[in-house]
Amino acid sequence: MARINDNYLKLAAGYLFPEIGRRVREFGEANPDAQLIRLGIGDVTRPLPSSIISALHKGVDEMAEASSFKGYGPEQGYAFLRELVAEHDFGSRGVKVDPDEVFISDGAKCDSGNIQEIFSSDAKIAVADPVYPVYVDTNVMAGRTGTVDDQGRYQGLIYMPCLEENGFLPELPTEKPDLIYMCFPNNPTGTVATKEQLKTWVDYAKENGSILLFDAAYEAFISDPEIPHSIFEIEGAREVAIEFRSFSKVAGFTGTRCAYTVVPKELNGLDAQGNPVSIHSLWNRRQSTKFNGVSYPVQVGTAAVYSPEGQKEIRGLIDYYMENARIIREGLNESGYETFGGVNAPYIWLKTKDGMASWDFFDHLLNKAQVVGTPGSGFGAAGEGYFRLSAFGDKENVEEAIRRIQQGV
Ligand SMILES: *Cc1c(COP(=O)(O)O)cnc(C)c1O
Repeated sequence: MARINDNYLKLAAGYLFPEIGRRVREFGEANPDAQLIRLGIGDVTRPLPSSIISALHKGVDEMAEASSFKGYGPEQGYAFLRELVAEHDFGSRGVKVDPDEVFISDGAKCDSGNIQEIFSSDAKIAVADPVYPVYVDTNVMAGRTGTVDDQGRYQGLIYMPCLEENGFLPELPTEKPDLIYMCFPNNPTGTVATKEQLKTWVDYAKENGSILLFDAAYEAFISDPEIPHSIFEIEGAREVAIEFRSFSKVAGFTGTRCAYTVVPKELNGLDAQGNPVSIHSLWNRRQSTKFNGVSYPVQVGTAAVYSPEGQKEIRGLIDYYMENARIIREGLNESGYETFGGVNAPYIWLKTKDGMASWDFFDHLLNKAQVVGTPGSGFGAAGEGYFRLSAFGDKENVEEAIRRIQQGV
């Protein structure tokens, strides 16, 4: 029989969400009349804005006529969308990004997961703790780690604990990493990084020959004008960073699928002889071989995000979710909970009371308020004693959840 990739057997069994499902199911069977409110998932709930729906229809109709039909598209995305991204998401903020540095894709999960394969199999990896699990699991699959311990830490990875003491910001590692995964605004903690803080990382990467893999999937939720939206707002970042963006959360594209990755042409890695090699050309090669691009109708739909109506409509979506975040944050604070995030990010990271363990708080919240959230320890050992609530729910449900929490949790 064919031998499998044994590295997959090292994975900590996708424990978090199945375990949440199991506990919720059990609770539902024991309490069939309970009205559960789910504030755990990282998925949006509002429908796509009408300007995007119209554009999607238009893209589909073009596929119906021989004169406008599209077959295989460019793997990197259509020029019309790459140009819109470069101009609106970067140029308008005074950041230089060329359209051909923008790689349109079907997800920031896929891109942030796939990027590691263009680097050496013995590349040293640094991640924050707690962390978006994709960065870790894809490196486990690729064989860059040893086995996992009972707290969920893999041997061979550099973990950067993000705790209340350091404002949930990673500190410069003592051991030198080749690749450093960063996510701001952060999932799960809702933390953002200032220009000065990011500058420290860009300088560190430059000095140590590291590459920053910067996940900005939540940049549109930033409300503070001082907080950078892109790593490329930091001087020198074009030589050391790759940025991942997504239309999933900002425009409701979790089921429609469109995202992009920016790989600057100044960014180099080293080959075995120590010669510089363009990362842009490697990623282009990778995408051309393994990816067929995003469907034409979806790219036409995505372009509508940048129209004046589209901009107004997605602003409405963001405001809707950030109002939920405010309700959750303030409601929890009134109930005596210490919270973090929820201002420039759609996640509220709450500290449990009296050091209650994350999973105990999960059960407590489920039993006392029939509210489902996500245990912080599921995102990493340093998340123990914390809990993530998401602002992506329905406003009435959010208000009801907070009422219940205030009454009895
Ligand atoms: C939701 C999310 C993404 C977006 O992923 P898509 O594949 O584009 O839907 C990326 N990074 C983080 C940290 C996320 O939470």
